[in-house]
Amino acid sequence: MLTPPDCLIIGGGLIGMLTARELALAGLQVSLIERGETGRESTWAGGGILSPLYPWRYSNAISDLAKYSQTVYPDLVQALKEETGLDVEWTQSGLLMLGCADIELATQWARQYGAELHLIKGSDVADIAPELSVELSQSEAIWLPKVAQVRNPRFAKALRASIDKLGVSVLTNTAAEKIIIDAGKVTGVKTTSGERLLANKVVLAGGAWSAGLLESVGFELPVEPVRGQMLLYKAQPDTVTRIILNQDRYVIPRRDGRVLVGSTLEYTGFEKQTTNAARIELEAEAQRIVPALAGFPIEAHWAGLRPGSPDGVPFIGAYRDIEGLYLNTGHFRNGVILGPASAAMLASIIVDEPFELSSAGYLY
Ligand SMILES: Cc1cc2nc3c(=O)[nH]c(=O)nc-3n(C[C@H](O)[C@H](O)[C@H](O)COP(=O)(O)OP(=O)(O)OC[C@H]3O[C@@H](n4cnc5c(N)ncnc54)[C@H](O)[C@@H]3O)c2cc1C
Repeated sequence: MLTPPDCLIIGGGLIGMLTARELALAGLQVSLIERGETGRESTWAGGGILSPLYPWRYSNAISDLAKYSQTVYPDLVQALKEETGLDVEWTQSGLLMLGCADIELATQWARQYGAELHLIKGSDVADIAPELSVELSQSEAIWLPKVAQVRNPRFAKALRASIDKLGVSVLTNTAAEKIIIDAGKVTGVKTTSGERLLANKVVLAGGAWSAGLLESVGFELPVEPVRGQMLLYKAQPDTVTRIILNQDRYVIPRRDGRVLVGSTLEYTGFEKQTTNAARIELEAEAQRIVPALAGFPIEAHWAGLRPGSPDGVPFIGAYRDIEGLYLNTGHFRNGVILGPASAAMLASIIVDEPFELSSAGYLY
C-alpha cells in the first residue's frame, strides 16, 4: 500500500495548483486529484486581470490579498519560467476605468494601499488609449498604470509543469465523490471509481463545485456557481493597448493582438452553455469601447463558472466542523489575482508558520 501524502488537494484549478506548489516548496508530500484535466474550468475561462475591477468597492480582506499577490507576481512568473520554460505573458497593460462615480472612495483606497492612481480627462484619456471611441474619450477616467495581466491558460500550464517537477502526485480524470470523516476528523477521500485515497490533511479547492462535496457529507459552505461569458477577437497587435473597463464590461489586449471581452455575471446554476443574447451584448459593448474591433472576427465565445462567495471573500483555512479539512475556495471574480496570496496563507496555516496577513477574515 502506498504511503499517504502529507496533504491531499481536491481540485486542479489555479487555486489547487498554487496551494500544491506552496506546500511542496515547504517540503510536504502532496497529492492532487482533479475530476477532469487541470486548469480547464474557471481558471481557463477567466480574463487574467491582476486586480479586482473597481478595487475600492471591495473590503480590505480582498484588497490585502490583492496587494500581496501583486507584489509577488513578477517573482512568481519568473520562477515559473525558470522551472518550466513557459512564459505566462505577465504584462503591465494598465487598467483604464471609465465613468466612475465614486472618485473620492477610489483616491482614499489608493492612499491606503499605496496604489498609483490618476484621475484623467479630456485629451489625456485619448493619449493613454488612442483606440477608445470618441464618445467614451470624453468621459472622466481613473487610470491605474501598474495593473498587469497574465494569460491564464498559460499560467495554468506553467503551474501544472511546476508541480509535476516538484514531485506533486497529480491524478487527473479522478473525481472526489466523498470526503471520508471518522470521529470528526478527515481521513481521506473516496473517488468516483470507489478508491479510497487516505490523508490526514485534505484541502478543498474545488472551485464552484466545492459546496457540493461538503453537502454530500452533511455540511455546508456558501459557495455557488456564477456564470461568466467571454468573447475573443482575433485582432492585430495594438488594436487595443490597455485593459479598458466601462460599466462592468472590459477589453483585455493579449500580446499577439487577440482581445478578450468580458464578462457577464449570471446566477444560472451549473449551466455552462453560452447564450446568443450575451454574445450580442458583449460584441456591442466591445465595439462601443473600441470601434476598430468591428473590423476583426470573433474567434471564440465561452462560459466559465466562478466560485461565487458572499462579497467575493474567499474561504481560507481550517474548516470549522471537520478536523484536518482545509478550505481554499470561493475566490469569485478574483481568483487569478488573489490566488498567490491565498495559497501562501493556507500553506502557512498548514505548516504552522507565521504569515504577514492575518487569516481571521477568511475562516469558515
Ligand atoms: C469569465 C471569467 C472571467 C474572469 N476574469 C478574472 C480576472 O480577470 N481576474 C481574476 O483574478 N479572476 C478572474 N476570474 C475568476 C477566476 O477565474 C476564478 O476565481 C479562479 O479561476 C478560481 O479558481 P479555482 O481553482 O478555485 O476554480 P476552478 O478553476 O474552477 O478549478 C476548480 C477545479 O476543481 C475541480 N473539481 C471540482 N470538483 C471536483 C471533485 N469532486 N473532484 C476533483 N476535482 C474537482 C474542477 O474540475 C476544476 O478543475 C474570472 C472568471 C470567469 C469565469
